[in-house]
Amino acid sequence: MTVTLDLEASTSDAPTRRTLSNLSLAVAKCKKIVVVTGAGISCSCGIPDFRSSNGLYALVKEQYPDVVMKGRDLFDASLFRDPTSAAVFYTFISQLKKSIDVASPSPTHRFIKTLDSKKKLLRSYTQNIDGLEERAGLIGTASQEAKSHGKGKAKIKMKEVRNVQLHGDIHRVRCTFCSADFPCTQDYLDSFLTGTPPDCPECAARSSARVARSARALKVGTLRPAIVLYDEPHPLGDDIGTIHSADIARKPDMLIIMGTSLKVHGFKKLVKDFARAVHESAPSPAASAASPLKKNAKSFAGKVIFVNKTAPGSEWDNIIDYHVVGETDRWVEKVIDDWKKARPADWEVQKTLVATGESSTTGTFHVAKEITNTIGLKSKGAKRKNDRKRENVPAAEDEDEVFDITLPLPSPPPSPSKRPRSRCHYTDVEMSPSKKSREVVLREPVHFEERGLLFGNATNASTKPGATLEDVFDLGPNVAAKPKTTSKKSAKAKAPKAQVEVLLESRTTKKATLSS
Ligand SMILES: [Zn+2]
Repeated sequence: MTVTLDLEASTSDAPTRRTLSNLSLAVAKCKKIVVVTGAGISCSCGIPDFRSSNGLYALVKEQYPDVVMKGRDLFDASLFRDPTSAAVFYTFISQLKKSIDVASPSPTHRFIKTLDSKKKLLRSYTQNIDGLEERAGLIGTASQEAKSHGKGKAKIKMKEVRNVQLHGDIHRVRCTFCSADFPCTQDYLDSFLTGTPPDCPECAARSSARVARSARALKVGTLRPAIVLYDEPHPLGDDIGTIHSADIARKPDMLIIMGTSLKVHGFKKLVKDFARAVHESAPSPAASAASPLKKNAKSFAGKVIFVNKTAPGSEWDNIIDYHVVGETDRWVEKVIDDWKKARPADWEVQKTLVATGESSTTGTFHVAKEITNTIGLKSKGAKRKNDRKRENVPAAEDEDEVFDITLPLPSPPPSPSKRPRSRCHYTDVEMSPSKKSREVVLREPVHFEERGLLFGNATNASTKPGATLEDVFDLGPNVAAKPKTTSKKSAKAKAPKAQVEVLLESRTTKKATLSS
């Protein structure tokens, strides 16, 4: 049975307050958390509501007054059969990307990043295509950093991927013919805005090379936004399936579902698989009783938490343990507050030596940055900890404690030329043009049977009166916050890896639990 907890009532109602605090403590204590998100987590990021009369849809209608396309038609794979509906789609996506480009990650995105920095995130899975997780510092499946290039098709480097983008990424485009994928540059965006798909540079280069040696020209494909439409297989479906299975096998100890109405078939299945794995990992009541001091936190381990404004359907009664009613941003802020109070040691500011890019050639070290976003982690030693650098594999309870310190990611720099693409943690290293390279990836399509993954419903969005569920997309609304880069993924910064790990003396930080 699902326990409903109203965030608003937490100030006045003592039992609700206690349970919410215990949930926060459980988050702080769990070590293999799977986070699953939908459009609700991007609502506060300021994406304009494209369903409203002033929204993006109205702009598209202005450009194509004679075309009638309903919400779902705009995202159905069948739109490519008709040149006009394809043109509307390109224009719409171009408008949507522009609004996403000026949005910033929400506290909820940053919370997921915090879980990762503190070695508690097993993996994040999202239905969203806005790429805001990556802007918060979580490498996504669409990221170039997640791809390994050997012979044949590109594979995903599972350990690098912290956020699985179930419906693709609006910031990338791919060729409809050869499947090569590229960052969505301003030129491509301008072309899409007029309803015209740009030619694939990869196909074009191959064709002109043949023409140059007097051979027959080849077909040149066009580029499309690299998002997954209704009734369309995910190009990375096989890799995503592998990651999903691996995460299930790792026995996640908590599932947090945020900002989704859980209505899309393929997505529901993924959530149910994780929920089952989490419940199977729950400690037995006997184990909790044996350790009365830890009882509160322990009894909250192995739970499924759903944070959303609207309730889940009755099919979730035996799957979701707690429904936190409210905004995801408010809940994550409460969790962090409770966590800081209950386990201040997790938030201690550490000082450490920091190696910079220049130092790797000159042999000098720069001093100490203050690092707050760090965490104690138990492990036998540096070697094993290194193995877990990307994936968060916690070690057994009673091993020596090791602090793994990573610098926080810089906020996005003001211009595309200064934007580092790599996992560079330095804010003070600017890239020279010679340190950048453009990468072109050729990828063969892979097939994924799971259909209809796309677009759950943004139930955390304030649904306009009269809007049907079909009108509610999983894109998350958006409004301008700051100007941002356009071709953020085009430049690969060759900055040094900046992960610094410092081993501290073993220390005991057994804090009193927050039970009350
Ligand atoms: Zn191509």
